[in-house]
Amino acid sequence: MKRLNFDAHFVDLFNHTNDLIHFVDMDSRILTVNPAWVRNLGFSLEEVKGKCIYDFIDLDYSDMYLSYRQDVISKKEASEIEFCFKAKDGEQVIVDGQVGCVYEEEEPVYTRGVFRNITAKKQAETWLERSQRRLNAFLTSAPSAVIVIDSQQTILEWNPKAEQIFGFSADEVLGQKLADKIIPLEYREKHTRGMLHFLKTGEGPVLNKTVELTALNKLGKRFPINLSISNVRVENEWLFIGFISDITEHKLLQEENIRQESQILQSKLLDQKKDEFLSMASHELKTPLTSLKAYVQLIEKAAAEGKPVQLPFVGKASSNILRLESLIADLLDVSKIKANKIHYNFETFSFKEMLEESVESIRFSTYTHSIILENYIDVICFADKPRIEQVVQNLISNAIKYSPEAEKVLINSELINGQVRVSVRDFGIGIDNQNIKHLFKRFWRVENGDMKFQGLGIGLYISKEIIERHQGSLWVESEPGKGSTFYFSLPLSAS
Ligand code: ADP
Repeated sequence: MKRLNFDAHFVDLFNHTNDLIHFVDMDSRILTVNPAWVRNLGFSLEEVKGKCIYDFIDLDYSDMYLSYRQDVISKKEASEIEFCFKAKDGEQVIVDGQVGCVYEEEEPVYTRGVFRNITAKKQAETWLERSQRRLNAFLTSAPSAVIVIDSQQTILEWNPKAEQIFGFSADEVLGQKLADKIIPLEYREKHTRGMLHFLKTGEGPVLNKTVELTALNKLGKRFPINLSISNVRVENEWLFIGFISDITEHKLLQEENIRQESQILQSKLLDQKKDEFLSMASHELKTPLTSLKAYVQLIEKAAAEGKPVQLPFVGKASSNILRLESLIADLLDVSKIKANKIHYNFETFSFKEMLEESVESIRFSTYTHSIILENYIDVICFADKPRIEQVVQNLISNAIKYSPEAEKVLINSELINGQVRVSVRDFGIGIDNQNIKHLFKRFWRVENGDMKFQGLGIGLYISKEIIERHQGSLWVESEPGKGSTFYFSLPLSAS
């Protein structure tokens, strides 16, 4: 064995460096190794000296090391190598470094290897690679669009789902400003302001929450999204990660559900109103019928006893017949409206006279209220006169019925934009806003607590139909507890 001749400094370096150093003779026997070598691989110097170097090299790397060493010996130059030793406990020790060859009189005498243990670094690298691979897999298969931007709003990450949702490929958007691509014009300034506010104060009202927003796709089409944003600080810079899902279908479904639910509710309500109507209708029909029966019996009794017929009884009987007639006519009107079978007979008439006649006929039937015709216009109208009368009478009789504490009902008519406008004002119970929108529906009656008003909930429905078939409109303004004003407007010539 060759004796090595180090001077003291080199011995010190040899003993204290962290690098692994070995000397190997031309028969591949280890001449010596330094303490770092012994420490890193876990053998004692005695276990190593004189042994073949390949016994300490991981089997997978021994061929590579052998040819590298031979290369070094023959070419007389040392290049870098990375390979694995096998430690005493069987673990791989990854190193990189150089082997050099020492010659005497042109003859190779031994080789010298100096290596650095890079196991930990390598393991960290592979961990990083693995986590990068995992991250890529996550980004590729994520069910949401994942978009990463920096504080200048530059797009840094754009996964395949983002490509699918927004229609932009990653190449088209990476490095571009987010706002220019997917944020609708009217929200861009707000977005920039929000970002600046965050950078200044650290506050972001939309951070770490899910918010519903509108976004733009490549074709400029707007669509609803759910967005959750998280922020992270990486290498002294804020990054914002947005998780986005397209909720167009979800929204449509939601709207459809709401529509269906409200339809079900409406039809339930209508069913309920129909039931109420049936019981009200039988009651409404029964009342005049019972009176009628009683008066007819009295008349019959008088006739049987040979007494003179009492005229007031006859009057009462015929007014009950009229009441029955009008109830039946209303009911028939409802079914005619449903079947679209109401025929209108248009004629020319004086609107003023029609109004006076209607008011007059109602005046006879009320002792409680004064019906005051405040203002009227004197115009000639072309419409179905009995049907318009029916509307006026219905509004006035409602005004009387729903203002039991009041004493008057005010009627006005005026000409506005070539249309006659009639108003019927009462000072009664009024109607709250919630009911106003339903008032003109079939069978709709407002629940009035204790106060029971008789009626079938069809008068306004019929009136509205009549007015609309004359190209006019019927509406109401009302304040609960103060009274209501029903209006209708009618073109002078409505055919
Ligand atoms: P009804 O036979 O029940 O009076 P209508 O169709 O004429 O039927 O009216 C529908 C509902 O509108 C009534 O049940 C009542 O609740 C409300 N209503 C109509 N007119 C008035 C009014 N002048 N003041 C307060 N409520 C009214």
